[in-house]
Amino acid sequence: MSTEMQTFTEKYDLLGCIQCGRCTGGCPVTVRANLNVRQFVNDAYDEEKLEELARLADIWDCTACHTCAVRCPKGLKPLEVLIGLRSIIVEGGKVEPTVRDALQSVLLEGNPWEKSRAARSDWMEGLDVKIADSEVPVENLFFVCCTIAYDPRVRMVAQNMVKILNKAGIDYAFLPEDESCCGSEVFTLGEEGLFEMQVEDNTEYLNEFDAKRIITLSPHCFTTFKKQYPDLKAPVIHYTQFLAELLKEEKISWKGEMPKKIVYHDPCYLGKQGDVYDEPRELLKSIPGAELVEFERCRERSLCCEGGGGKMWVESESKKERLADTRIKDAKALDADIVAVACPFCVLTLEDAMKGLGYEEEMRVAEIMELLGENLDI
Ligand code: SF4
Ligand code: SF4
Repeated sequence: MSTEMQTFTEKYDLLGCIQCGRCTGGCPVTVRANLNVRQFVNDAYDEEKLEELARLADIWDCTACHTCAVRCPKGLKPLEVLIGLRSIIVEGGKVEPTVRDALQSVLLEGNPWEKSRAARSDWMEGLDVKIADSEVPVENLFFVCCTIAYDPRVRMVAQNMVKILNKAGIDYAFLPEDESCCGSEVFTLGEEGLFEMQVEDNTEYLNEFDAKRIITLSPHCFTTFKKQYPDLKAPVIHYTQFLAELLKEEKISWKGEMPKKIVYHDPCYLGKQGDVYDEPRELLKSIPGAELVEFERCRERSLCCEGGGGKMWVESESKKERLADTRIKDAKALDADIVAVACPFCVLTLEDAMKGLGYEEEMRVAEIMELLGENLDI
């Protein structure tokens, strides 16, 4: 057995696999692609096969939803075998131009969207935002996320948060434009070296601040910090946890009624990976007049929107129905007025599906923060 084989096998604990198939059985992508993660776990034992396996287009179908890891009775993370295979391709420099450009942009500008670092704080324009200072202790340090900072559709997540914080008189600070990508997508795209560098640099940067806790606006940053940044000094929570707390303490209040039927889509990185299921629901249920209903596939069984795992930069070869389309059709069957989410990627993928299906007149996709911005007295 060669060193490379031992390394791959040990790294992903391949010998722990009992080939029960629960991973593939639960994988949402199998309805539209040929991805068989159990088979990959099995075949990756053979070192001779690694290069060949890494060349299969199937490895790019994984959305890193983590269902396979949640279902594995042996505690393996089958998806990471696919990420390990992606890294063989990335190391060989044979990635799609879209992936290459995203990774290059993270390296040079601290975000995967090919935007300049100088523009990272543009979302703050016109708002009274408190900026973090390493000399001044702060209770709540906010980490915005690349997508929320740059994408005009989801910027309001950060903007509404500032309005809520100012109204409630909370001790907070947002990071200046020095904030850099958490590396969630870099990791899943298989760029291990760049990800390690990001963990080191971001840990050093965030630890400069004397913060009681770090609050992330995106579940991708939340899970990545919690699970892959072992040396962060401050604990990390997601904004829905923070706001549910604020609501209980009656530090925020509603200004009117919203008599709408809302169905909540659990983002994979918040639910299955972050174990945060209740707080987003508490926030939605507390909106006066709102009725919260559930998808048949919810919480741990929630369907993936296919926005994670680097899929924003990798087009699927499958022409079968996208999972986001399935999700929107399920919401329509429930007669929901609003599909609420708590993740910028879910907003973008589900809204795209809703528009593609022509449901714009009768339904909307909304970030929870969007609904809070419309209904809270701020
Ligand atoms: S669920 Fe775990 S043990 Fe079962 S086949 Fe998949 S990786 Fe192997
Ligand atoms: S992470 Fe999700 S999409 Fe990827 S192999 Fe596991 S279950 Fe399938």
